Amino acid sequence: MNVTKRDYYEVLGLSREADDQALKGAYRKLALKYHPDRNPGDQDAEEKFKEAAEAYGVLSDPQKRAAYDRYGFQGLQGAGAGFDPNAFADFSDILGDFFGFGDLFGNRRGGRSRVQRGEDLRYDLEINFEDMMKGLSADLQVPRTEPCKTCGGSGADKNDGLTSCPMCRGRGEVIYQQSFLQIRRTCGQCNGRGQIIRRACTQCKGEGHVRSDRKLKVNIPAGVDNGTRLRLSGEGQPGSQGGPPGDLYVVISVKEHPIFERQGDDLHCTVPINLAQAALGTDIDLLTFDGLETVKIPEGTQSGARVKVRNIGVPRLQGSGRGDLFVHVNVKVPTKLTREQRRLLEQLRETLPAENEPHEKGLLDKVKDYFM
Ligand SMILES: [Zn+2]
Ligand SMILES: [Zn+2]
Repeated sequence: MNVTKRDYYEVLGLSREADDQALKGAYRKLALKYHPDRNPGDQDAEEKFKEAAEAYGVLSDPQKRAAYDRYGFQGLQGAGAGFDPNAFADFSDILGDFFGFGDLFGNRRGGRSRVQRGEDLRYDLEINFEDMMKGLSADLQVPRTEPCKTCGGSGADKNDGLTSCPMCRGRGEVIYQQSFLQIRRTCGQCNGRGQIIRRACTQCKGEGHVRSDRKLKVNIPAGVDNGTRLRLSGEGQPGSQGGPPGDLYVVISVKEHPIFERQGDDLHCTVPINLAQAALGTDIDLLTFDGLETVKIPEGTQSGARVKVRNIGVPRLQGSGRGDLFVHVNVKVPTKLTREQRRLLEQLRETLPAENEPHEKGLLDKVKDYFM
C-alpha cells in the first residue's frame, strides 16, 4: 500500500461536508480526465485514476465514510478499502457504460493473470428440533472444485492445446471507434486471454477445474434458527493464482417439532385438561427437552390460559440463558358421560350460579391479557 497516501477529500478536491451530489460530480470529473482509455500508457494518469476511484469508493459508502472521518485510514482496515477493480461495476451509474469498466484492469492485455480470491460457498443444512435445542457436531461433505493440476487451470491440453484467438488475433481485446474516442473492450471469444482451446485437457475435459470435495466437522451451537448463517472462514472455493480461498456459509433450517413450537427463544405447547382439573387445579407431567417436568395448573384455570415455566425454552444464541416454556391450557368438556358422571354434574349444576349474560365486547381479550 502507498506510504504517502493523500487524504480522500483532498484527492477529490472537496470539503469534509461535501454531499453525495458533490461527491459524484468530483469523481466523475477526475475519472473522465484520468481514464486509462484517454491516457494510454500513462502510468501517472492510471495512478490518479485509481486514487480517485478509491477515494470515491470510500466516501460514497456512508459506513466507510463515517469510519474514515473518525479514524482516518486506520478506520478502514479490513473494510475493503484500497483499489478494487471489481468495484467499478458499481460506478456505472455515474460514468455510464461508456468505458466498459468491468474489465478495465482485469485480464485484458492478453494473458496477464490476476490473483483471485476463491468463491464463497453455501451449504444448506437441515437439523432436528432436538439437535437445535442441544447443539450438535455435524459432518459435512462440501462439494468444491480446485484448479486442474494437469493443465494448470487453462482447460487446454498442455502440449499444443491452445491456439491464438481468431477474433482478436491474440491481443485479448477488440477496439471500437466511437466518435473521437477509441474504446477497447475485452474480447468476448477468448475472455481476454488472447488464446482459445484447440484441444481440451483430458484430465478435466476442458473445464479447467476438477472436483475436490471436502469433509468437515462443524459445531452447530444450540439455539440456531431457520436462516442462521454460520461462516467458516477459508473453507470456500480455493483461490486461483495463489489467491486466498473463499468462505463457506452453512445455512441452517430446523425441522418442525410435533409438539413444541418456537417463538423467538420461547417454546409453546398446548395441553388438554378436563373440566374438573380446570376447576380444582392439577399437576401435569410434561416431557420437555430437559426431561419430565411437573407443570402446576392452578385451580380455576380457564380454557386458553397459559402457564409459564421459566428457563427451559430455547438456549439463547446471542448472550446467555434460555427462553421460557408456555403451556397453553385447553379445557375439554366431556362428550360421553356415564350415568354416575351425569348425576354428579347435574348435582353440581344445582349449586353453581348460572351467569349467562353475554360478555361485554373485549372482555375475552382482557381475560387473555391477565394470563400473559
Ligand atoms: Zn485440465
Ligand atoms: Zn480473443
